[in-house]
Amino acid sequence: MLLSTKLSDAFNTQVNAEMWSSNLYLAMAVYFKKEGLNGFAKWMEAQSKEELTHAYQLIDYTIDRGGDIVIGQVNIVPTAWGSPVEVFEHVYKHEKYVSELIDKLVDLAEEEKDHATSDFLYGFVREQVEEESTAKNILNDLKNYGDHHYGILDHQLGKRE
Ligand code: MG
Repeated sequence: MLLSTKLSDAFNTQVNAEMWSSNLYLAMAVYFKKEGLNGFAKWMEAQSKEELTHAYQLIDYTIDRGGDIVIGQVNIVPTAWGSPVEVFEHVYKHEKYVSELIDKLVDLAEEEKDHATSDFLYGFVREQVEEESTAKNILNDLKNYGDHHYGILDHQLGKRE
């Protein structure tokens, strides 16, 4: 069964959203580099690469199922934040938004009775549970450690591969 045009179009939109997310986290990595918080910057770089991986997975799946992908323009991302707490508030809000996008894709796959696509998307549904939880935990840690004690967290986050 070929991917429906509706799903193929929706996957194109999601590929663009993943690329936008990747750029957002890259911009956040730059912010942290400029702040001298290299552990945070490393974590954000890894996050940025992971978002691109999501785009590649969606591209491969769409092509494998006979859909079409066109790489389009990616909108500009924010580049300035007031503090690390503000950055992670943004991350948490953004990941909740991405979860909504994925849920809508699952809704569409179900409407189209495309079980293979539902199954494929459940991986992304599970991933979003983890993304939201991670963002929330880091945000809580940042708030608990206080505004000027980033050292411990910076060290911890820098361990991410
Ligand atoms: Mg993603």
